[in-house]
Amino acid sequence: MNAPRIEVDLAKIRHNTQSLVKRLEPLGIAVLGVTKAVCGNAAIAQAMIGGGALGLADARISNVGKMRKSGIKAPITLIRTPMLSQVEQVVSVCEASCNTELSVIAGLSAAAVRAQKTHGVILMVEMGDMREGISPDHLGVIAKEVDGMPGVSLKGIGANFACLGGLVPDATQMANLSKLAMSIDRRREAPLEIVSGGNSANLPWAMGQSHIGRINELRLGEAILLGVDPVTGKQISGLYTDAFILIAEVIETKTNPASVADRGPCFDARHLVAQNSQNARSILALGVQDTDLSGLTMPVCIRFVGATSDHTIITNPKSHLHVGNEVKFHMNYGALMRAMAAPNIAIRLLGDAPLLKSISTKHSRPTLTLV
Ligand SMILES: *Cc1c(COP(=O)(O)O)cnc(C)c1O
Repeated sequence: MNAPRIEVDLAKIRHNTQSLVKRLEPLGIAVLGVTKAVCGNAAIAQAMIGGGALGLADARISNVGKMRKSGIKAPITLIRTPMLSQVEQVVSVCEASCNTELSVIAGLSAAAVRAQKTHGVILMVEMGDMREGISPDHLGVIAKEVDGMPGVSLKGIGANFACLGGLVPDATQMANLSKLAMSIDRRREAPLEIVSGGNSANLPWAMGQSHIGRINELRLGEAILLGVDPVTGKQISGLYTDAFILIAEVIETKTNPASVADRGPCFDARHLVAQNSQNARSILALGVQDTDLSGLTMPVCIRFVGATSDHTIITNPKSHLHVGNEVKFHMNYGALMRAMAAPNIAIRLLGDAPLLKSISTKHSRPTLTLV
């Protein structure tokens, strides 16, 4: 089988989506499944929709195009403010986009008029994370301008937390976002349809005892894909954390590693572990070019020695890994994002059928158990 490869369990992604949708539904919060970390993989997007996500969201128009070409019909929101040079494509493949610049919204408006479409606009508000957003003080004026533009329809407002500045959303910030939404509601004929509260980092707030207020949508990527809270890295109860597994193949095993004194400048000394002659040292056909190796969880018996562009060196004191053996890893969000975009990593989708059925045991090689 192809290596390196990522095995994706679609049933687990579907389960994670469904579990979150069910918990948020009674609070009046809908889920958008965020596909940016999986580069708009259509099967994964479909598993999110199958699990009850109301729509999809991605940061890149190329990923959205990929999903449309694969036949995804669900509404898709562009969650990075569009490039002025891409307004035509945005209007053609996305129902809505998150926006922070009036000049871009004017471009979307003109493109939508030309295409005889109506494009939804979500205005992103800067609530303290210091990445994208309009200042709360300017929101009312900008909302009014958007309401007056042809071809676009002001669907709602949104905020994003815990990305650049690492600001974790709490009850106060979320209440402020609700207040902003209500102040815009009061100045319009119809209330805003969407108040998009944030990303996976908002789940502790949403599932806590806080008042939900006007928030009626969350955009969830990491929680669905990896089953963890991005702030703490801890598992969210009831979710699978192993929907994605990275598999690499051993291409060399030697019991006498080269002397540490011989090492050249490309060897990252931070990752050196004590080696002795009993430790077998293996090389995997996987490297820095493929993923963020610091974001991999090693199987229990394996120690990470270091990596270069195309090689990953591990030691394995307990049992010897043989050439041709496969080693499995869990990935964090950063490693997943890089690996899914790597052209040399195959993606193997395991269907919605029970996991055991879809793995062919006939050709599989011995593997190590996960941590
Ligand atoms: C990446 C992103 C999300 C999803 O974040 P997760 O932590 O993966 O849930 C939501 N909204 C915006 C604007 C994003 O950039």
